[in-house]
Amino acid sequence: MSGAKLNILFAGRFDAKEREVWWQALRAAAPEHHWWREDEAFVAATIDAAVVANPTPGALARLPRLRFIQSLWAGVDKLLADATLPLHVPIARMVDPVMTAAMAETALWAVLSLHRGFFDYAQQQCDGQWQQHPQRRADEVPVLVLGAGQLGSAVAGRLTAQGYAVKRWQRSQSLLAAATGQHIVINLLPLTDATRGILNAALFAALPPGAALINLARGAHLVEADLLAALASGQLSRAVLDVFHQEPLPADHPFWQHPRITVLPHVAALTDERSAAKVVARNLQALAAGQPLQHLVDRGRGY
Ligand code: NDP
Repeated sequence: MSGAKLNILFAGRFDAKEREVWWQALRAAAPEHHWWREDEAFVAATIDAAVVANPTPGALARLPRLRFIQSLWAGVDKLLADATLPLHVPIARMVDPVMTAAMAETALWAVLSLHRGFFDYAQQQCDGQWQQHPQRRADEVPVLVLGAGQLGSAVAGRLTAQGYAVKRWQRSQSLLAAATGQHIVINLLPLTDATRGILNAALFAALPPGAALINLARGAHLVEADLLAALASGQLSRAVLDVFHQEPLPADHPFWQHPRITVLPHVAALTDERSAAKVVARNLQALAAGQPLQHLVDRGRGY
C-alpha cells in the first residue's frame, strides 16, 4: 500500500537552474505527495519530510511534525554540522547506483592514468617532448582504498576487475601499516572528526617514495601543506584531487598551477537527478507506508 500523502519541504543551496531541474525530477518521481519549496508560503506545522541539499543552517529547525530528512548528497558532513538540526529525526543520505558507477569510473581513470604515466605524457606533449617510460603491469601496482563503504567497495571492485592489486583499509587495521608498499592511495572516507586531516605527512611517509594520492571524498581530509611538502620532496609523485577545503578552489591557490596536481571541480560522481529522484521516492513511499527507511545516517558516527 502506498500510504498517506506527505507534505514535503524541498530545501537546499543550488543555482536557479539546478534547483528547477531537481524540483521537476523530484515531483515527477513522487507526484502523490505535496511538495513545497522553501521560498513558498508553506505551513511549517504540516511538513512531514524534508528533501535537502546542504540547506541553510536553521532551515529545518522549526518543523514540529518533521519525521524524516533525505539528503540529495551522499556526504552529510555539512548537513550534520547544523547544530539546529532536530536530533530525533532520521536522516538518509544518497546512495544511488548511477553515482556509484560514476565514482568507479573516475577512480579507474585516475589509477590508469597514474599507472600508465598518462598525466606525464600529457605534460610531455605540452613541452613537445618525445620520451617513453617503462611500462608496468596492473598487477604490479598496489592500490590502497580508504573507506570500504558503498563507493569504496565499488571502486575496489572495479580496480580489482581491471587487474590491480587492491587492498581495502578498515578501521580495525593500522592505517600506517596498511600503507606500507602501496603505490596509489584513494580516499573515499566520509568526513568525520576521526577522518579530518587523515591524508597527512605521517601517511605519506608510510608510503613508498613516489607514491600517488587520489582524493575523491572531502577536501578537509587532506592537510594541504603536507601534500605540497611531500610533492616537493618527491615522497609523493602526483595527486589527483576532486575536493578541496574551499570550493570553488580560490584562483590564487597553489594547486591550480602545480605541475603534479590534477584538479577536478568536484565532479568525481555527481548526483544524477533522474536516478536520485527515484531513490528519494522509494524512501518517501516507505515513510508514508510506515516501512523501514533506507541508507540512514548514524548521527553518533557522523556518517
Ligand atoms: P559509506 O558510508 O557507504 O562508507 C563509508 C566507509 O568509510 C565505511 O566503510 C566506513 O566504515 C568507513 N569509515 C568511516 N569512518 C572511518 C574511520 N574513522 N576509519 C576507517 N574507516 C572509516 O559512504 P560512501 O561510500 O557512500 O561515501 C563516502 C564519501 O564519499 C562520502 O561521505 C562523501 O564525502 C564522498 N563523496 C564524494 C563525491 C564526489 O563527487 N567527490 C560524491 C559522493 C560522495 P564502517 O563500514 O566501519 O562504517
